[in-house]
Amino acid sequence: MLRRLAVLLLGLAMGLGLDTLAAAAPPVEQGEGRARVETKAPLGGRTIVIDPGHQLGNHNFPARINRPVPAGGFRKPCNTTGTATDGGYPEATFAWQVSRLVARRLRELGATVRLTRHSNRQDRWGPCVDARGRAGNAIDADLKLSIHADGSYAAGARGFHVIAPPDRAPWTDDIARPSRRLAAAVKSGLQGRGFVPANYVAGGDGLDVRSDLGTLNLSDVPTVMVELGNMRSAADARVMTSPRGRARYARGLVAGVRAFLR
Ligand code: ZN
Repeated sequence: MLRRLAVLLLGLAMGLGLDTLAAAAPPVEQGEGRARVETKAPLGGRTIVIDPGHQLGNHNFPARINRPVPAGGFRKPCNTTGTATDGGYPEATFAWQVSRLVARRLRELGATVRLTRHSNRQDRWGPCVDARGRAGNAIDADLKLSIHADGSYAAGARGFHVIAPPDRAPWTDDIARPSRRLAAAVKSGLQGRGFVPANYVAGGDGLDVRSDLGTLNLSDVPTVMVELGNMRSAADARVMTSPRGRARYARGLVAGVRAFLR
């Protein structure tokens, strides 16, 4: 009892939800003649790939970053430098910080989580979009979530959008349907945490379909790329640069992943 109380207090102190407590608490085994109740990890047995945008040091390796790689029926530069807020907070760092929060939470829920990069450093680059695209294939992941932020200079442009691959043979016809479902789930998850769909992307519903992204085209598992907001918007940047804002983004993404896997 004391141990459970300690876990409870720790959980409350860390501001974590009840689901976390269920995952963190040891299985409850009751005495003879009574029902035996075990706390089951909600995402036990699931494998999830998180792709945290661009490496921070990409701009230091232009030759490597510009090298064309396969991207789904055409070639494209290995990667890009990503964008930043007007204050200089890089997309790479934002994607990395949110991805780590998402990965930690999914692991707490019992999932196996793989990241496509393992550092956020100026002296590193890549991986290229072809490696990111295939990251879930060999391990037959349940899904792959690629986390980015946008850099639009359009006046007043703000909000998130989720990009899914189209039904395009032979590349993404096999994953188009579940990926659309994943996109809708991630959108709902973000909206449930108070985020608004992008007002500058066609349709205005926070959903987009694109055939030009190697990260999506080379995937054999359901996948979406999410642009969590517009870093050039002062309003979005305020949320992105705050730890509380990033935690809220992470909770929205986790809610979407859980809804998709349910
Ligand atoms: Zn990006």
